[in-house]
Amino acid sequence: MFALVTGVLVALIQREGIAMGSGGQVFALALGAFVLALVAGLVTMELMRRPMRELAHQTRNVVRDTSRRVSILERDPGNELHELTEWVNFLAEDADRSHTALARERVLLSSVAEGLTQGVIAVDGEHRIELLNDAARKMLGVTSTPVGEPLIEFVRVPAVFDLVDGNEAATVEVQLPNGPRTLIRVANRWGGDGRVLLLEDVTTVRRLETVRRDFVANVSHELRTPVAVIRANAETLLAGAKDDPVMGPKLIDGLHRNAERLARILADLLDLSRLDAGQYRMDLSPVAVKAITLQSLTAVETQATAREVTIEVEIADALMVKADPKALDQIFVNLIDNAVKYTRAKGHVWVAARVEGDNVRIEVRDDGPGIADKHRERVFERFYRADPSRSREAGGTGLGLSIVKHLAESMGGAVGVEPNTPNGSIFWLKLPRSTTA
Ligand code: ADP
Repeated sequence: MFALVTGVLVALIQREGIAMGSGGQVFALALGAFVLALVAGLVTMELMRRPMRELAHQTRNVVRDTSRRVSILERDPGNELHELTEWVNFLAEDADRSHTALARERVLLSSVAEGLTQGVIAVDGEHRIELLNDAARKMLGVTSTPVGEPLIEFVRVPAVFDLVDGNEAATVEVQLPNGPRTLIRVANRWGGDGRVLLLEDVTTVRRLETVRRDFVANVSHELRTPVAVIRANAETLLAGAKDDPVMGPKLIDGLHRNAERLARILADLLDLSRLDAGQYRMDLSPVAVKAITLQSLTAVETQATAREVTIEVEIADALMVKADPKALDQIFVNLIDNAVKYTRAKGHVWVAARVEGDNVRIEVRDDGPGIADKHRERVFERFYRADPSRSREAGGTGLGLSIVKHLAESMGGAVGVEPNTPNGSIFWLKLPRSTTA
C-alpha cells in the first residue's frame, strides 16, 4: 500500500510540476507531506490494532478461565498497553482468589452441613431446594440430592408449608411420614428471600420424657401404699389402740412390714440410680460360679424352707466367669429368690451352668406356673409385674429384674427368659468365660 501511495504521489508531482511551474511545486510538496503523514498514521494504527486485538482475545480467555493470564505484556513492554495488560492480570488474579475462597467456603459449608446430626434444608424464594444435608435426607427418606426441586415434593406435611410460607422464625413438631418425630425450626435466610429449615429428631428425647414421667408415677404409686399403711396404723395406735392387747401388736407388725417394704424399694431405687449414673463400680475378676451360687443361697434359705421349695445346684467346681463378685451375687439372689417366690409351694428350683463358646450360660429354672407370653418380654422393665398382687404379697418391688439386666450388661453379659417344659420358667444369664483362676 505504501508503494502504491508513493507511486501515485510521484506521478502527481510530475504532472503538476509540468503544468504549474514553481507554484505547482509548492502545492505538490504540501500534498506529498499530507499523504505521507496519512500513510504514517495508517501504518501506526495498523501496528496498534494487532496487539489490541490480541489483548482483547487474551482478555476474553482470562474472563472464561481466571487461572489464565494475559501474556502480551512481556512481548511489548513500555507500551500504553502495558498498564492495561497489568490491570487485566491484576483483576484476573483477584477474581481467581475470590473463586478459590468461594470454592473453599462451599466445601466448608457442605462438610459442616453433612457432618451435622440435625437436618438442614435451604430453599429459595420459590421454595425450591438449594441445600439438603445427609441428616435431612435420612429423616425425609430421600435417596437423591434434589437441588432445584420444589420442597413440597419431599416434605408432605401441611404444617411445615404454613411455616415456610410465612415470614417469621417459627417452630413446629411433626411426625414425618415414615420418618421420626421431628422438631422443625424455620428462619429467614440472611441476605435472601429464601428460608432455612433445621430438623431435629426428637424421638428419643420424647421417649425418655415418657419413661421419666412413667417412672416418677410408678415410684409415687409404689410408695403411696406403705406410707398410707404406716400413717393409718400410727394414727390408730396413737388414738388408743396401743393399749389394746389384740390390735396393738397387729398394728405394730403392719408398721414394721411396711417400713421394711419402703426400705426395700428405696434400696432398689438407689441401686438403679447408681447404675444409671455409672457409679456402680464393677471390679471384673475371675469368679467361681458355684462358690457365688452357694453364697447366694443363704439369702433365700428361710423363704425356701418356709415354702418347702427344694433347690438343686448343678455346676462344676472349676467353672469360672469374668465378673464382679458382688454384682454376680446380687443377680443370683434376685433370680433364685424370684424362682422360690413364684414357683408353687413344695416346688423345685435348679441352678445350672455350662460352657457355651467363649461364654458361660447360667440357668435358674423352676417348675412353677411360668410367665405368660405377653408378659415374658416385659418382665425386665422397671416396675413391670406379670402378677402384681402376687408380687406385692411376696414383698416384691418390681425392680429386681431391671437391676439384674443392668448389672449383667454392665459386666458385658446378657439375660433373658424362656418357658420351661412342661411348666415354669428358665431365667438365663450369659457372662464371658474366664480360663484363669
Ligand atoms: P418383683 O419384685 O415383683 O419380683 P422382679 O423385677 O424381680 O420384680 O420381677 C418382675 C415380675 O416378673 C414379677 O413381678 C413376676 O410377675 C415375674 N417373675 C419373675 N420371676 C418369675 C418366676 N420365676 N416365675 C414367674 N414369674 C416371675
